[in-house]
Amino acid sequence: MPESLSPELERLRDDTDALAREVLAPLAADAAANRARIVAASKEAGLFTMTQPRAFGGTEATTLALTVVRDTLGSHNMTHLPVFGPGPGVLAGAGEPIASRYLGPLMAGAKRGSFGFTEPDDAERATWGRLDGDTLTVSGQKSYVTGGADADFINALVEIEDVGPAMVVIDTDRDGVRIRDRFGSLDGTHHTYFEFDDVAVPAANIVGKPGDGLPRALRQIGDTRVAFAAESVGLMRWVLDFVTTHLEAPHRSGAPLGAREGVRLRYADLRIQAYAARSMVYRTARLADAGENVVNEGIACKVFATETVGNVVDTAIQLVGGKALTIGHPLEQLYRRVRALRLAEGASDILRLNLARGRLDLKKGRV
Ligand SMILES: Cc1cc2nc3c(=O)[nH]c(=O)nc-3n(C[C@H](O)[C@H](O)[C@H](O)COP(=O)(O)OP(=O)(O)OC[C@H]3O[C@@H](n4cnc5c(N)ncnc54)[C@H](O)[C@@H]3O)c2cc1C
Repeated sequence: MPESLSPELERLRDDTDALAREVLAPLAADAAANRARIVAASKEAGLFTMTQPRAFGGTEATTLALTVVRDTLGSHNMTHLPVFGPGPGVLAGAGEPIASRYLGPLMAGAKRGSFGFTEPDDAERATWGRLDGDTLTVSGQKSYVTGGADADFINALVEIEDVGPAMVVIDTDRDGVRIRDRFGSLDGTHHTYFEFDDVAVPAANIVGKPGDGLPRALRQIGDTRVAFAAESVGLMRWVLDFVTTHLEAPHRSGAPLGAREGVRLRYADLRIQAYAARSMVYRTARLADAGENVVNEGIACKVFATETVGNVVDTAIQLVGGKALTIGHPLEQLYRRVRALRLAEGASDILRLNLARGRLDLKKGRV
């Protein structure tokens, strides 16, 4: 649990806390304009490389260490800042030529990648490819590629005929790659709808073994689930601090709102939920670092923590009142940001179905 951290992790937590308070806080108000300074500060603090492999100059932090940092940044409402460098994602462990053409430049910040998994509802056929000698010809579409418009390449899930699903690196400037639409979402992030029309890709751009694509894609999504959960529990703490201050402040009714029993009951529920979520995330991080399979536990954390932070922010807005919905109020902004977490990296109900399958069909998962 968070309380039994090693002295090294306690130091990491305290250093991250100081960084957030003293350095990042003044930059966070305009994170886009201050991007370079935020990146420089997180590099100097040693956080930037935590998500990167040693072979590329990273420090490959443990899941627990990453959880501590994400939780701490969340407790300052700073999970949206560019504190971590790009991770390898589905390219982790890729051999040549992908390592030197894509993974190395990605880690060095010289190229930007993106992830293409989601297909539109009206797709006649999921993105497919035909392998002919050294060339894979790809056609289809990916409808929700975050950061796609600025990306140099897309790691796309492609169904290769007679082979199976594979992750394929597709340069965004190849002939036949078209941007059909660009759009923003409620949380403030930007996405691209790509179409592929007979795009010729070197077969060497297939990541790993052809046919190994779905597990690789799902592993990448799986890794991000504990990360989402860790950020969510940190954000819950920030909201609880905000609400506590509000409930203790004078109120026009004559007594602070925190003196009212009805308000206290709701407040207690938020604390109970946050305690449960934070406990499960730290337990799961420790299991992951012990080498245990945490696919089902990661799912449980992602569903519970993202749904709980949604409820915590929603109830906080109710307790603070109308001013919390003023455009630009931190709770208004957070309400929009956390809503996306229940769809991105796996919709809650799909994950529930996976969790049930894990136990009923595969005899996996623990309580
Ligand atoms: C901020 C954000 C960033 C994203 N970034 C990316 C990205 O970079 N790359 C990418 O590929 N995608 C990305 N996505 C898309 C995301 O992965 C999908 O939105 C998500 O997987 C759900 O798929 P969908 O939108 O097609 O909805 P659907 O799959 O149509 O699901 C909609 C709802 O239908 C119900 N449902 C669907 N199927 C079932 C079922 N079998 N059984 C029971 N209920 C079901 C569930 O309630 C589900 O929530 C992003 C989404 C968001 C919000």
